Amino acid sequence: MIRLFKNFASLPYYSKSIFNISENLFHKFSGGYILSFHDLLPQTFEAQINSLKPSEPISLDELIQRYKLGKSIKNCFAITFDDGVEKTVLDNWNICKKNNWPVTFYLPTDYLNGENLPYHKIQFISKYLEKYELSEKIKDNKKLLIKKNLVKYLTDLLYVENSQIVNENINYFLKVISNNSFQKNKNIMPKAISWAQVKDISKNLLSSFQSHSLSHTACSSLTESELKNEMLSSKRIIEDSTGRKVNSFCYPYGSKKSINELSINVASKYFDTATTLIRGRLKNTNLHYLPRIDLYEENTISFVRLKVSLS
Ligand SMILES: [Zn+2]
Repeated sequence: MIRLFKNFASLPYYSKSIFNISENLFHKFSGGYILSFHDLLPQTFEAQINSLKPSEPISLDELIQRYKLGKSIKNCFAITFDDGVEKTVLDNWNICKKNNWPVTFYLPTDYLNGENLPYHKIQFISKYLEKYELSEKIKDNKKLLIKKNLVKYLTDLLYVENSQIVNENINYFLKVISNNSFQKNKNIMPKAISWAQVKDISKNLLSSFQSHSLSHTACSSLTESELKNEMLSSKRIIEDSTGRKVNSFCYPYGSKKSINELSINVASKYFDTATTLIRGRLKNTNLHYLPRIDLYEENTISFVRLKVSLS
């Protein structure tokens, strides 16, 4: 319903001229922006980027460089994709290559090394969990016996808790699924891009592979040494694979509650930039707390223009 309303409210933005007028009105003196994508179809992605013309994508490095030097970044934006799902990276990389669009892919390296992403596990639970009892720790929270509430509870944990607590909770329900059925195994979860594919794509300088941590854990839940490990090890792993410099970090989950002062401090030691999922443009921005505008498969062209104009 909310989505329907938003799409309805954004109808005038179906017209390109209204989009251009509002871009000029609202953003006459303001900056470029970074777009953030997760899983979406290549044709949707291509249509969304084309809808932002006359704005054009430039590389994240160039956008930041111009911004730091005080050069104009009006009508400029950078494209980023989070999480390294094989199909998403390959399909959308083809679109970028075809259109000559620079793109940054943020990789959580444990995922490429065979671990499943925590939120993929929750999607799996949401899809396959049938009859269940609650684990000892949450057994008094009876509302979690409704699966929708349980999925929300587990998802909320991801944004603030460390991997030990997240895994304890998630693994219990994964075990319930595997005890109840045959063949409901992790192979059904989305596959990560392989290192060989990363290496191959990274030969093309339109692409850039940057760090999205090792384990995709909320940074606010980590100690200083854990942060250092998540950031520095993932940076080295990607640099070793691509032979190119990793200078940007993307905070897992990217929300205010997933990022604390300590994580910003540690990120600023090892990276030139760090990106969040807090919506906004480059304007009086901390380079290690960069806003992005997140776009999704279900966002219509007019809604994309509205979102970008109002960010
Ligand atoms: Zn992510």
